[in-house]
Amino acid sequence: MTSSSAPTSEVPTAVVISIGEELLEGRVADTNAGTFARELLLHGLHVSALYTIGDGVGELQQLLATLTDKVDVILTTGGLGPTLDDRTRGDVAAALGVDIVPVPVPGAMAHLAEVYARYHPDQATEEFLAQASMPAGAEPLANAVGSAWGFMRNLGSRSRLYCLPGPPVECWSTFRAGGAAADLQQRFGAGAGLAHGVLHTAGAPESVVEEQVREFFSPGSNPRLGITASADQVSISVLARSEPAKASSASVLLESTLVELQRRLGHLWWGRDSQTLASLVVETLSARRQTVTVAESCTGGRLAAALTGVAGASDVFSFGWVTYSNEAKQQQLGVPQQLLVEHGAVSVEVAAAMAEGARRVSGADWSLAITGVAGPDGGTAEKPVGAVCLAICGPNTAYTLVRQQFARAGRDAIQRQSVRDALDMLRRALAGLPALG
Ligand code: ATP
Ligand code: MG
Repeated sequence: MTSSSAPTSEVPTAVVISIGEELLEGRVADTNAGTFARELLLHGLHVSALYTIGDGVGELQQLLATLTDKVDVILTTGGLGPTLDDRTRGDVAAALGVDIVPVPVPGAMAHLAEVYARYHPDQATEEFLAQASMPAGAEPLANAVGSAWGFMRNLGSRSRLYCLPGPPVECWSTFRAGGAAADLQQRFGAGAGLAHGVLHTAGAPESVVEEQVREFFSPGSNPRLGITASADQVSISVLARSEPAKASSASVLLESTLVELQRRLGHLWWGRDSQTLASLVVETLSARRQTVTVAESCTGGRLAAALTGVAGASDVFSFGWVTYSNEAKQQQLGVPQQLLVEHGAVSVEVAAAMAEGARRVSGADWSLAITGVAGPDGGTAEKPVGAVCLAICGPNTAYTLVRQQFARAGRDAIQRQSVRDALDMLRRALAGLPALG
C-alpha cells in the first residue's frame, strides 16, 4: 500500500484499489493506480492510499470492510472479466449483502451473447454473460471498448464506490464516457478545493530548473510543488489548496504561481499539463502553414514517430529519412564523403549537412537532423556514449548543437533525450529564441 498524510483542510478523501494477481507478481505494471490517483486529485479529492490486491476469494470484500465510511470515494479497477478469478462483482455484493442482478439496460445481455457467438460455436457461458450484471442497487457504467460493464454504488452512508474493468483503455472509457466522471463531478464539484497544474521545461537539467524556482519548494507550503525529470522533459507540478481564511481560491493561487514560475524559468518553459513538445511544434507549424522534415541516424525514426504521434501531423510532415549508415547519409542526403572521413558520422559538420540535404531534397520549410552515439558500445574518448550532434535548417536559420546525454540511463533514454532536444531546437527557432549553447 502506498499512502500519504491527510491535507489540513476539509478535502474529501479517496483510495484506488488495483486488483489482479498479475500486478502482485510484477508481470503487469500498475498504470491504472497512477492514472486515477491523478484523476481523482483533479476532481478535488485527496488520495490517501493506493492498494494493490490479488484475485483471492474475499480479498476485496475484506478490504472494503475496512474502508467503508472511512473514505469518500473507493475506486477499483480489475476483476470484472469473464474468468473465474474475476471476483469484483461477487465481493462487492457480499460486502453489501445483496444479490447480483442483470444491468438494467435493455439488450445488454443479448448484446454480450452476440459478441460471444462471433468467436465461439457454442452458447455463451454463465461467466461471460455475468459481465452484464452488477450488485443490486448499483448503477451501470457502460464500457464502450470491451465487454465488462462497470458499476457505481453507495457503500455505507459516506462512501461512493466505482468499479471499473482492468484493461487501461477499458477502465478509462468506463470512467469517462461510461458516467463515473460525471457522477464524481456532480457529488464533489469541479474540485474547487484543489487545483493542479504541471509546467514542462527543456534545455536545462533538473538541478538548474530547480535552482531557478527553489524558494517555492518549502515543505508543507501551499501550493505544494514537485519536480520530476524524465528523458522527455523536466516538469514542475503545482498543487494549490483553497485557503478560506485568506479568501483565496485554489485556481487563482495555481494560476498566479504558474505565472511566477514561468517568469523565472524564462525560455526554458515551453508548455503545460498534457501538452508535449511534439504537439507544440506541430501546432505552431500548422498555424504558420509551414512544414518540417527529419534526417535521423541514432534515433532511428523516433523523431518522425514523435511528430506523427500528434493528430494533425499530416499538415506539417510529409516524409523524412532514417540514414543510419554513412552510405545512406551520402546517397539520400548528399552528405559529402569528405565530411564523414574528416569529422566522423557523429559531428556537427555531418549533422549540418544532413539537415541541409533533407531540407533541400524534401522542400520542407524546416529540417532537423540527429546523429550520435546511442550506445551501449561504440563510444570513444572523444565521442563517448551519449554524445549527440543536432542540426536545424529553416528560413534564415541554420545552426548545430552538441549534447552529452545522460549515458547511464541507457540507449532508449539517449534516443528519447535526443528527440526532445531536436524538438526543442525547433520550438526555440519557431519562437525566435536564441540557440542553446
Ligand atoms: P478482462 O478479464 O475482461 O480483461 P478485467 O476487468 O477482469 O478484464 P483483469 O482481468 O483484472 O481485468 O485485467 C485484464 C488485463 O488488464 C490485465 O492482464 C492487464 O494487462 C490489464 N490490467 C489490469 N489491471 C491493470 C492495472 N492496474 N494497470 C495496468 N494494466 C492493468
Ligand atoms: Mg480478467
